[in-house]
Amino acid sequence: MKFISVTKKYGETAALENIDLEFESGKITAVLGESGAGKSTLLNAAAGLIPFEGRVEGAGRTSCVFQTAKLLPNLTLADNIRFVLPKSAGGEAEAALARVGLKGREKSYPHELSGGERQRVAIARAFLYPHDTLLMDEPFSSLDLALKKSLIELVWELWRETGNTVLFVTHDVHEAALLSHRAVVLKKGRVVYDAPVSEPVPRDFFRAQPAEEKLIKVLTD
Ligand code: ADP
Repeated sequence: MKFISVTKKYGETAALENIDLEFESGKITAVLGESGAGKSTLLNAAAGLIPFEGRVEGAGRTSCVFQTAKLLPNLTLADNIRFVLPKSAGGEAEAALARVGLKGREKSYPHELSGGERQRVAIARAFLYPHDTLLMDEPFSSLDLALKKSLIELVWELWRETGNTVLFVTHDVHEAALLSHRAVVLKKGRVVYDAPVSEPVPRDFFRAQPAEEKLIKVLTD
């Protein structure tokens, strides 16, 4: 996927300013930056949800995970998943729920689950929806550390199976170091840092005080 001279203005504010970025297929890129830096706008542009100047090429079909699960409250978990499948031959929703540790909960409703369980369903649903690019906007920020750990591991596992391109927005350098091949930092709508994450995969959650000193520096500047 390629961003070519992408600019998005809201009145006088440039949420994105002349962004030229290429995201390698099959890799996970973390997009970081302070609040208001343009991260969500970048994802919205990739998903084609907003008009903007410039072009985004090669995003293909996109699938999204948000900060909260956004499940449909009046549908069971299995139906929430079936809802996004173009034509279900049967069994996929059940298999997907089992995959994220929710076997036997097919007939539960979203309000019967904890926040972390709902986010598991959202992630399973996003991976199952046929897509070329997965866009995740702060998917772990409302979760406690244990859940964060298990969901980061889950995303790696699912990514290994699908090998899709992932853009992952976070404000947390630890999350970025654990779950990306590359980190991009935005500041006031511009790219101020863009480099590979050097730690080999799989990452060790417990010793992941990231080695990316320059990344920490640019984020604390
Ligand atoms: P981030 O996700 O990094 O917090 P955003 O992409 O949400 O940043 O926002 C980037 C800038 O664009 C901010 O200054 C924000 O106030 C502005 N902005 C975003 N969405 C809108 C909107 N719908 N209307 C007006 N301004 C917006």
